[in-house]
Amino acid sequence: MNAKTSAQDTVILPPAMLGMLGGGQLGRFFVIAAHEMGYKVTVLDPDSNSPAGKIADAHICAAFDDQAALLKLANTCAAITTEFENVPAESLSLLADIKPVRPSAYSVAIAQHRVSEKNFLKQAGLPVAPFVVINQAEDLPADGDAMYPAILKVARFGYDGKGQARVSNQQEALAAFNAFEHEECVLEKMLKLDYEVSVVLARDAQGNVASFPTSENSHLNGILDVSIAPARGSDAISHQAQKLASMVAEKLDYTGVLGVEFFVCDGELLVNEMAPRPHNSGHYTIDACITNQFEQQVRVLTGLPLGSAKQHSSAVMVNLLGDIWPSADEAPAWLAALAQSQLKMHLYGKQAARAGRKMGHYTVLSANRDEAIKLAMQVRAELNIGT
Ligand code: ATP
Ligand code: MG
Repeated sequence: MNAKTSAQDTVILPPAMLGMLGGGQLGRFFVIAAHEMGYKVTVLDPDSNSPAGKIADAHICAAFDDQAALLKLANTCAAITTEFENVPAESLSLLADIKPVRPSAYSVAIAQHRVSEKNFLKQAGLPVAPFVVINQAEDLPADGDAMYPAILKVARFGYDGKGQARVSNQQEALAAFNAFEHEECVLEKMLKLDYEVSVVLARDAQGNVASFPTSENSHLNGILDVSIAPARGSDAISHQAQKLASMVAEKLDYTGVLGVEFFVCDGELLVNEMAPRPHNSGHYTIDACITNQFEQQVRVLTGLPLGSAKQHSSAVMVNLLGDIWPSADEAPAWLAALAQSQLKMHLYGKQAARAGRKMGHYTVLSANRDEAIKLAMQVRAELNIGT
């Protein structure tokens, strides 16, 4: 191993208790990875039925800004991470006064605010789509401006296409800005995308980086639908995406698992956004890589060396949204999917299905990427996804 290590960095070994802010599916996969390695996990989440809280060793059922709950987490865990970029950065700072917190409050604060994220990327010399910051109606460009057609995106708390409106002129932009109750927004030029890719990487406290292969992503109604890994399209683009994602991590002095989303536009990469946590498009790593993105999160948090990010099978991941549930508590007919020998099913144990809610995903593995795509799309059609 030639990874850089530093003597003063103390490694946290099993069976230590690790802390997780957030109880969604990303937290649940972290708990599973930590358990496999012999660690225990305490989850802090306000939902008594959260997917991660249900399987954790301890669940602190409280709001993310509850000081007493945060102190309890810090005092009972050896180190703390998060699965949710909208956790208040102040909460991470408070925890960091007591125990190691990865990623840092600073990185999360940048990623959770679209304006600071865009400004950071621009200043770091990374290519981004043309945008303007909108604080008041007067900031909206006039008709005829090259920005239209555009997408108005709220600066905070947007996810899965929520808090976004597609607008073709100033009047529509104003209507959307009013609908968002004059929250700070970014107006971004609507681009004609060739395709979209993302890179998930892990960066440790010594600056070592392990990057998973670039995945190719398609979205349905603004929500990730299918990820193909490794991405099709040009190898040069896939390599460049890895380089840019590493640059983002370095410029942020990032410690943790980072997801970076890109647009490919006229053969060029633009950074769309970043997530300071494992990423939905990295779920294929659970079944197709030597170390998955959640084990990397455990490794970075505990100060262990990064695992190999090598992919051993081509993989196609398909998200399962609540839309395909016949009713809130009646599951789809899974048999045809489960009968496939190359398909790995992951259901998150969420209480009730709702349209647009991520309930699970499956990944099809194969030595041959085209075969994996074919089978994944056949099952996707059988489950009536996107119809
Ligand atoms: P998530 O956090 O779930 O990735 P989000 O709500 O933060 O989603 P974005 O990543 O900004 O949303 O956008 C969701 C999708 O909408 C993108 O992956 C892309 O398909 C499309 N999209 C967003 N911005 C643009 C743009 N400027 N031009 C063309 N398409 C876009
Ligand atoms: Mg996105």
